[in-house]
Amino acid sequence: MTIVDTPERRQLRELTRAFVTKEVLPYLDDWERAGEVPRSLHETAAKIGLLGIGFPESVGGSGGDLLDSILVTEEVIRSGGSSGLIAALFTHGIALPHMVAARDDGLIERYVRPTLAGTMIGALAITEPDGGSDVAGIRTCARRDGDHYVVNGSKTYITSGVRSDFVTTAVCTDFPGSGSLSLLVIEKGTPGFTVGRRLEKLGWHCSDTAELSFVDVRVPVANRIGPEDTGFLAIMQQFATERLSLATQAYATAQRCVELATRWCRDRSTFGRPLASRQLVRHRLAEMHTRAEAARAYVHDVAERVAAGEPVVTEVAMAKNVAVAACDFVVDAALQLHGGFGYLRDAEVERHYRDARILGIGGGTTEIMNEIIAKGMGL
Ligand SMILES: Cc1cc2nc3c(=O)[nH]c(=O)nc-3n(C[C@H](O)[C@H](O)[C@H](O)COP(=O)(O)OP(=O)(O)OC[C@H]3O[C@@H](n4cnc5c(N)ncnc54)[C@H](O)[C@@H]3O)c2cc1C
Repeated sequence: MTIVDTPERRQLRELTRAFVTKEVLPYLDDWERAGEVPRSLHETAAKIGLLGIGFPESVGGSGGDLLDSILVTEEVIRSGGSSGLIAALFTHGIALPHMVAARDDGLIERYVRPTLAGTMIGALAITEPDGGSDVAGIRTCARRDGDHYVVNGSKTYITSGVRSDFVTTAVCTDFPGSGSLSLLVIEKGTPGFTVGRRLEKLGWHCSDTAELSFVDVRVPVANRIGPEDTGFLAIMQQFATERLSLATQAYATAQRCVELATRWCRDRSTFGRPLASRQLVRHRLAEMHTRAEAARAYVHDVAERVAAGEPVVTEVAMAKNVAVAACDFVVDAALQLHGGFGYLRDAEVERHYRDARILGIGGGTTEIMNEIIAKGMGL
């Protein structure tokens, strides 16, 4: 099954493509060098209704569902954007959903609406220097003190952590590593909360990544999302969306690289003939196309089931792994088909090759997905 195309969705694709062509492509190389996208991009995307896709109008969103968000992600990358751009511009896709699900009007007014209007930037901080895969082992702790929590600990690899105005932070509300987790919204500028160095990375260069430190940071209890100790469940529930977004980034990157490589192989001649005329090259392109299309079909199928409310935790994990495997194969083959040019910064395929490597790490690694799949098999 594939996501049903409707006139509204065709319009959404066109809107996304026009946005990328006009507002992104002329500047993306500059943002890659600068290590971040400008705040103004969030406002521009918000004004045309792109930032709020997948969030209900009642919280300041533009409406639409998970499937519409997936189409936007797909179209951004297929129009020449990148997974790094998605990570930077759509970080709210992982920073806000817990607040929306908790239906906390105070948090929605203070953080959700301004973020979807493009005037605030949010981040999600789960991973810690001691480990990211073991979410229950979180050691950043929040001790209750009257109508505040006092937070101590650190987080790392936080997407948009340098630019964000607030961070949805997973904290332990019992002893470190107890698994009793809560989510607190911690504002930049709160005494004791510091953003460490901007982390240098292999890819996702236009997406800033930060280390965060919390030393006796006083956070109002009103900034807790949902009841105390419900953080672990809230995180796990929202992982489905994040993983499907990463899976989408993976197959869309693969599709884009198939297009780039096909164009290249038609135009490039060696030994007096276009590369695309060689059977070896044609079969390589056919295999790349097949893997990208199979990944897309499976991710769409699982996304439809998630949107319909089916409990498909195992299938989401499989979708992520299938799409990441397709992407890894395709970006490598696409770069190889470009020859020396593929290795240059001037080649779009070079950026996709670097950007793709995080997709099997972020949002739960390939190995952790396999753990989930094995459990689903009753092993
Ligand atoms: C660019 C970037 C952006 C990121 N953005 C965010 C963000 O916005 N917010 C956030 O909270 N985190 C973010 N992360 C962190 C990311 O989610 C973690 O890196 C990831 O979950 C893995 O955690 P880890 O790095 O601590 O690896 P570890 O948990 O230390 O794992 C190391 C290796 O061991 C393997 N492994 C671990 N446990 C097992 C096991 N039981 N069985 C078999 N193998 C195992 C893993 O698969 C991995 O290969 C980001 C990371 C990067 C690089």
